[in-house]
Amino acid sequence: MTYFGSFGGMYVPETLVAPLQRIQREYAKRKNDSLFQTKFQQLLREYAGRPSPLYFAEKLSKAYGCKIYLKREDQLYTGSHKINNALGQSLFAKSLGAERVIAETGAGQHGVATATACALLGLKCVVYMGSEDVKRQYLNVQRMKLLGAEVRPVDSGSKTLKDAINEALRDWVAQPESYYLIGSVVGPSPYPEMVRDFQRVIGDETREQVMQREGKLPDVLVACVGGGSNAMGLFYPFKDEHTVKKIGVEAYGAASLCFGKTGVLHGAKTKVLQDADGQIMETHSISAGLDYSAVGPEHAFFQETGIADYSAVNDEQALAAFRELSIQEGIIPALESAHAVAKGLDLAQILDKDQIMVINLSGRGDKDTHALEALGLK
Ligand SMILES: *Cc1c(COP(=O)(O)O)cnc(C)c1O
Repeated sequence: MTYFGSFGGMYVPETLVAPLQRIQREYAKRKNDSLFQTKFQQLLREYAGRPSPLYFAEKLSKAYGCKIYLKREDQLYTGSHKINNALGQSLFAKSLGAERVIAETGAGQHGVATATACALLGLKCVVYMGSEDVKRQYLNVQRMKLLGAEVRPVDSGSKTLKDAINEALRDWVAQPESYYLIGSVVGPSPYPEMVRDFQRVIGDETREQVMQREGKLPDVLVACVGGGSNAMGLFYPFKDEHTVKKIGVEAYGAASLCFGKTGVLHGAKTKVLQDADGQIMETHSISAGLDYSAVGPEHAFFQETGIADYSAVNDEQALAAFRELSIQEGIIPALESAHAVAKGLDLAQILDKDQIMVINLSGRGDKDTHALEALGLK
């Protein structure tokens, strides 16, 4: 079982122990199976459109006085980094002989990526989504339906990601022969490790692209953190590089690393937003993809050991960055990614002009036009 220091583990109902142990055993084999890995790399290249570009943002660099690069995960097929993991895990589910896939989704990006990968590989797909998010991310709900997935709105709790995961876990307990395709580096072992392995391509490519262009490693990496998969994907290949600062950015109203305490949620021991009685707190963020009361256990470990630092950005700061990137560079970012941009631009002001920052642009903002309109923003 994978632990990250004291974080992680497998805190699940008894019915899920056997399926999880099987997943763990089988995944350990796929990790070193060259046929599986070759097929995965091929899908990333030919289907998802990797490598994603590393874009030098010249105007922002000039304005903020250092070298600012954007890792363009927003340019991947389906519009975010979620496709990396969805392809990897669908391929894995298929190889296990599973026929039905369960997923949860917040912003809908993981739901769309999973519905896409399931269509591609001929798997039945059921997606749980908080009813609040169904409203906020209407476009993605339509996309999932067009891809042949069944979308089940969840009306409990805050009607967001946490509640969708609860329902997905309930479904899995009732039908453990289904495959649960988790969308971030969260959940019981071995999911945090497996999702990180499927997402590390972000950091591996970034390392190569920065070396090629600048002849040295970057000074600062910045990524937003919901469950933490795009950040872990970027950070992990640099985890032993002490000169490379890694900054994770949470949404202020859902900042489990910044304001949470150690607890257990959704199968793992990690940092959780909870009250004095240990009850899970409701969260708020303008971005559905960051609106989650826990975080991947490896990030809790990175925070505890100082491998990475974490801070929080509020709705207004994210919106300001959203506008600045749209207008300055012609790139409409996902509201999630706009949190990373906000923190990145803030930090850029204290860097020297030759220092290199990479901001992970985890997704594109088309999906958010509806939500922004509802806020009265044009
Ligand atoms: C889902 C999502 C996130 C948050 O998830 P992580 O697992 O923290 O990466 C961030 N950005 C976009 C565009 C997303 O779709």
